[in-house]
Amino acid sequence: MSNQQARILVVGGAGYIGSHIVRQLINACHDVVILDDLSTGYRQLVHQDGEFVQGHLGDLNLLEQLFNRHRFDAVMHFAAFSQVGESMHHPLRYYQNNLGDTITLLKAMQSHGIRRFVFSSTAAVYGEPLEIPITESHPCLPTNPYGNTKLAVERLLTDCDMAYGLRSIALRYFNAAGADESGEIGELHDPETHLIPNLFKAALGQIDHIRLFGTDYPTPDGTCIRDYVHVNDLAQAHLLALDVLLADGESAVYNLGSNSGFSVKEVIEKAEAVIEKKIPVIESPRRPGDPAKLVASSDKIRRELGWKPGYESLETIIATAWRWHRKNV
Ligand code: UDP
Repeated sequence: MSNQQARILVVGGAGYIGSHIVRQLINACHDVVILDDLSTGYRQLVHQDGEFVQGHLGDLNLLEQLFNRHRFDAVMHFAAFSQVGESMHHPLRYYQNNLGDTITLLKAMQSHGIRRFVFSSTAAVYGEPLEIPITESHPCLPTNPYGNTKLAVERLLTDCDMAYGLRSIALRYFNAAGADESGEIGELHDPETHLIPNLFKAALGQIDHIRLFGTDYPTPDGTCIRDYVHVNDLAQAHLLALDVLLADGESAVYNLGSNSGFSVKEVIEKAEAVIEKKIPVIESPRRPGDPAKLVASSDKIRRELGWKPGYESLETIIATAWRWHRKNV
């Protein structure tokens, strides 16, 4: 089965990244059911053409009902806690949600014979990079509980493939950014910790200023370098991964980044240029756990799945995010 209509369960489809994937799945004529407990997702991000079930992925009874009611061809999973700092203070909460509840989801899939899984993973599985750009064969040595939970699920998926023939594709995101061009969905977090939305908040006076975390990193301008990738390009990669699994392809792991990096100062300058306004910035100490430089090599997914990002300029990424933010946040 490939490029055919499929029935997909999107766990966490009311979140920033999940909602963009749902939109592309529906545009590609797939049948979508969204499971989200709205703990970090938002009702306003739920697509009207998907069936929405409010509930938690760790609720086995609910999963059983859902899997008895629908014959899913694949499951996509975005329902994770994703804040590094928070994970350092609440590791049990992170392991329970990101690993424990994912085990429940996989068990329910296993007992209903669902054997295709697309998993939202992260650059945090690599830890402090030994070389740049980071390829998929870089050692995985996470430096925080968040990265540990994602790596633990990736390892579990490898074991489930061997034991049960569960085929999975794990996509390791670098810095997801931007918003759908429609302006109808975009980044929404509470509290917001990410750089680009916080720059907008500071520009709009929703916060007094943005804190620039660390100016003494071993980078050309002393600020951290990150690899920003548009959320719709992430979404496109998920649809390619799904096609592979629907065609009974093999399990795999891919990086999703842009192969280029921008420093925090460069992002601030570009944001100021896009919104044509000076943003109040206060230089602050480093944020614990931030590596100096994270840049992906995404050659593998370009080569093997033909992934072609459409939004390679940071200005465009910021402009799409701005369109969403100033209307909705
Ligand atoms: N950053 C910052 N101020 C903020 C938020 C982020 O200086 O209010 C920096 C952060 O230290 C990192 C970069 O911006 O170097 C990207 O951070 P973000 O939280 O957006 O993503 P992360 O790389 O942590 O996944």
